[in-house]
Amino acid sequence: RTLLKVILLGDCGVGKTALMNQYVYKKFSEHYKSTIGADFVTKELQVEDKTVTLQIWDTAGQEKFQSLGSAFYRGADCCVLVYDVNAPRTFDALNTWHDDFSRQADLNNPEAFPFVLLGNKIDLHDGQNLTVVEEKVKEWCEGRGNIPYFQTSAKQNYNVEEAFLCVAKIALEN
Ligand code: GDP
Ligand code: MG
Repeated sequence: RTLLKVILLGDCGVGKTALMNQYVYKKFSEHYKSTIGADFVTKELQVEDKTVTLQIWDTAGQEKFQSLGSAFYRGADCCVLVYDVNAPRTFDALNTWHDDFSRQADLNNPEAFPFVLLGNKIDLHDGQNLTVVEEKVKEWCEGRGNIPYFQTSAKQNYNVEEAFLCVAKIALEN
């Protein structure tokens, strides 16, 4: 049995809680709730011949103040960064989240630590030009050591399973 601690990070409102709820409970709500009851939820999945338990840590709205603290980050096996493809500000904030995590998580090998990037709310974009240009996103991922990137929709359950499977895989490899 393997237990992996996964941290969801990104600006307030990008859909972190919605992605977690879709993945773990197969539920989506339009209603905005900035707080949740528990510190984390768990989800078991199969990665090839291994049974893996993801312990997914969501924030309870503290990300508004960018003060999550090292207890939240400590012992993480993967950090999932989330932005909203329709809100460039949330993409620009990724550097801060990445740095904040890397600084506070007390990593043995910061260079090799696995991150995954999710560009969420893809269902809201108009099918033409993405507000956050994909070229820029790819460049950012390459610049940070080839971070795997997924466009997702928590609302339409698009790429959510795929993204968390990738999270489990790269966390296991680490
Ligand atoms: P968090 O602050 O990052 O946890 O964001 P939430 O999960 O609370 O989501 C903020 C708002 O965006 C809520 O009203 C959600 O219903 C909505 N939302 C989240 N994900 C999606 C998505 O993929 N598509 C659409 N259309 N709305 C979403
Ligand atoms: Mg939330």
